[in-house]
Parts: sequence; structure tokens; C-alpha cells
Amino acid sequence: MSFHPAEWRKHFPLLANDSRLHYLDNAATGQLCEAALDAVTHHELTHRANVLRGTYRLAELADAAYENARRQTAAYLNAASADEVVFTSGATASINLVAHAFGETLGAGDEVALSLAEHHSNFVPWQMLRERRGVTLRFLPLAADGRLDLNRLDEAITPRCRLVAVTHASNVTGAVTDLAPIVAAARAVGARVLADGAQAAQHGPVDVQALGVDFYAFSGHKAFAPTGVGALWGAARALDALPPFLGGGGMIGRVTAAETSYAAPPRRFEAGTPPIAQAVGLGAALDWLHAQSWLALRAHTAQLARRLLDELAALPGLALLGPRDFQARLPVVAFNLDGIHPHDVCQLLDQHGVAVRGGHHCAQPLMDFFGVPGAVRASFAPYNTEADVDALLAGLKDVMKKLR
Ligand code: PMP
Repeated sequence: MSFHPAEWRKHFPLLANDSRLHYLDNAATGQLCEAALDAVTHHELTHRANVLRGTYRLAELADAAYENARRQTAAYLNAASADEVVFTSGATASINLVAHAFGETLGAGDEVALSLAEHHSNFVPWQMLRERRGVTLRFLPLAADGRLDLNRLDEAITPRCRLVAVTHASNVTGAVTDLAPIVAAARAVGARVLADGAQAAQHGPVDVQALGVDFYAFSGHKAFAPTGVGALWGAARALDALPPFLGGGGMIGRVTAAETSYAAPPRRFEAGTPPIAQAVGLGAALDWLHAQSWLALRAHTAQLARRLLDELAALPGLALLGPRDFQARLPVVAFNLDGIHPHDVCQLLDQHGVAVRGGHHCAQPLMDFFGVPGAVRASFAPYNTEADVDALLAGLKDVMKKLR
């Protein structure tokens, strides 16, 4: 199946308006697709009202749009029911929701297993839970290339484990986690599994049922949707058992001076006015993504990343982080140039119109594991082209000439 990135690019207004930009920071934020932009504009111009409380026509239109977005999100994730989708402000909020709501049910003696390859969003909330509830954190061992060592899961997933919180794909190395053995190990001890899908969800539809996890967190802005919105998918069995996290309007059954009962999921977890137009934009983006030919799209981004990896490996004094093989690997490439700070690399690359990120990537434990303070990271989306790789490589040669 042929795929034309230049055609895809036309669906991204910012890129369509700037042909000289080589945007390779997609792991941080994807560009907004026109399907999302149009849906947000249409919603704001014709359907704007608060949701799940008004009885007039406009409010009912807003309700319908918001719930349609929930169905679109559920379809993208292959959720069994739209009620398993909780809108949040993003992956960070989704993970914190679980850390608080599920965390409320844990105490001293209970264990949470995570890895050193986690983004801080799936690390710090568990340390905070340790402070609040006295739980023990255990770390899933990593292999030398930063992948989880699936042969040593029992070192961290013990009979006291109540939750395994693990990234579906690393934002530094691009390594995709094989969740099946983790789910099996967790099930064997009666623990729940949360997958941080912040890096995975934008690379094609996700099948949460096939993954077998209990919770799946992701952000809209990385999936070509607006900022300020994301979702927590939770299997009905898992969400039903959770107490609320935030209290407020919309999440209640009945409130009296003496006590409050709570609404069923997902509303139990959506206190206050949600990000309505953003959710509508997210639904539209996912609906559009769902209709794409992902085999061809993935082949295209993998080819770009593979070429970059191969050419980088040939540069003197360049160290790659993470796996070299392209098995279960997203198009995310992190590296260091010997003796040059990642920030300096990024600043010089910017002069070539190349946008890449440098730093610790909110993954300091992983940087410590690799023994580096940071790295430069190039991350691809289907609108990227060979010209973007050319520009990055030419820019890097210039960096080496100027800074070495
Ligand atoms: N997890 C991973 C793996 C990420 O890459 C990110 C974003 N860099 C997050 C969580 C947090 O996402 P957000 O900032 O959108 O909440």
C-alpha cells in the first residue's frame, strides 16, 4: 500500500503553512490535525454549553457531542464500553487519578511495581503514594538496552504486589513493552496493571482488551488532538471498584449535609466541568486516525527512524541510547554527541529548521541507568519525510564542525 507523507502533511495546518520546518519532536507533542481543529471550531461555534447538567436544546447538543467523543475514544481503544473512558487533562492526570483512587485502597505491606524506564508521570505519583500510604515500590529490572528484562519479572512482581504501573512505550528509547508476560505475572498474584500509553497511542489504534491491562492512560496532544485533554481507560471491573479522586459537580449520586453517594464511572471520575471542546477535538482526531492505513504509516515512520539510526551509528563519537533492533520499536531515536551538551545540539539544529528535544526527557531514573545527564531525541510522525532526516543529519554534521 503506498503512502504519501506529503499528502498526510496537508492535514496538519501548522505544517502545511510552514514548509521549511522539520518537526521531529513528536514524542513531546504531535501537530494538530485539521479534523480536530475543525471539530473544535464547529463545536465552539454551534454547540458550546456545559455538559451533563442542562436541559435546554443547546446543552443537549453539547452533551451529545461530548458523549460522541467518548464513543470515538472507546472505539479507538477497542474498549468494551464507552463508559470505560474517563476524560482527563492528559496522561499525567490519568495516572495520578489511579494513584489516588486505587492508591486509597492500599497501605503498608502492599507493593507497586514499576520500572526505571518510566516517564516521571508514571514514577513520581507512585513515590508520592509511598509517602501518603506507606506502600513499597519495587522496580522491574532493565536489560542493558533499557528494555524491561522480562525474564526477571518475579523480582519485582511479588505476592504482595497490588499494581504494576509500566510504560507501553518508552519516550526515550522508543522500546515497546511486551505487556503480555507482565499481565500474566500480575494476574498470578492478583495485581492490577496500568499501562502508560502516552507514547504508544499516536502510532495507531490500541486494543486494550487484547493487551489485557486494567488501566490505560494517554494524552490527546501527542495524538494530533488539542492540548489539555486525554483519557484514562479502565476496565469496568477495575473502575467500578475505585473510590473517586476529585470531588465536585457531576460526580455525585446524591449529596446531603450528612453524606454523599457517587455516580457510576465514568462520571465518578469527572468532577467539575470537563475539557469539553478539547474532548470533542480528541474524539475527532482519533476517529480520523482510526480510518488510516496504519500498516503503511508505521512502515513509513519505521523506515525513517531506521535510516536515521543507521546513519547516526556511522558518525564518530555518537552514542545511541536504547535498542538497535527494530523489533517492537517506535520511531523515537535518542543519542548523544561526545563532548557536546544536548541543549547546544538542539539550539544549533534549530538554526537548520530542525525541531528536536534535548535534555532528560522527564526520565531521570532512565538517564541515571544509562549514565548520561541527558540526550538529544528525534521522534517521527507519519507526516515526516526523508527531507526531515536529511536536514537533521546535515545539521548534526554542522554541529560537529562548529562545536568540536
Ligand atoms: N508518559 C510518557 C511515556 C510520556 O512520554 C509523557 C509525555 N512526555 C507522559 C507520560 C506525560 O504526558 P502529559 O505531559 O501529556 O500528561
